[in-house]
Amino acid sequence: MYYVEESHPAIIEKEMWEAVQLEMERRRAFAEKYNISKLDYATVDNPFAGRVICGHCGSAFGRKVWNSTDERLRRVVWRCNKKYKVKGKKSCENKHIDDKVLYQAFVNTFNAMVENKEYFMEKWKEGLKSENTLVRYKSKQFIEILKMQSQ
Ligand SMILES: [Zn+2]
Repeated sequence: MYYVEESHPAIIEKEMWEAVQLEMERRRAFAEKYNISKLDYATVDNPFAGRVICGHCGSAFGRKVWNSTDERLRRVVWRCNKKYKVKGKKSCENKHIDDKVLYQAFVNTFNAMVENKEYFMEKWKEGLKSENTLVRYKSKQFIEILKMQSQ
């Protein structure tokens, strides 16, 4: 007799699998709370996708490229996905954000976290003891990120 389960290494750890389930549930609940019909998830090329939420109507912001025949005038902006819900008619009055501004805001937030790392380390070490698998998983990830950053 042999056990198939034990003859192969686990593809992902049980804890990671549980964390993924909880993260999917968290995103679903978030989308429901803010009335977002489609959360467009971040990728390596588009790390802010689904992460910027309109303060005016609650919809997610999407990345748009404002093309120009002159390459120097080409701009990347983030705009509320409900701005032109009905083509040609404005549905949300919120303004767009320049991609560089958004990037800088992320860098500033990350730097603020690094500058206050004692505070955050304490918070995440507390998180490692949480009952919630997702909180433990995220806390572990943040601790690793800060350790990498300090090397
Ligand atoms: Zn909006």
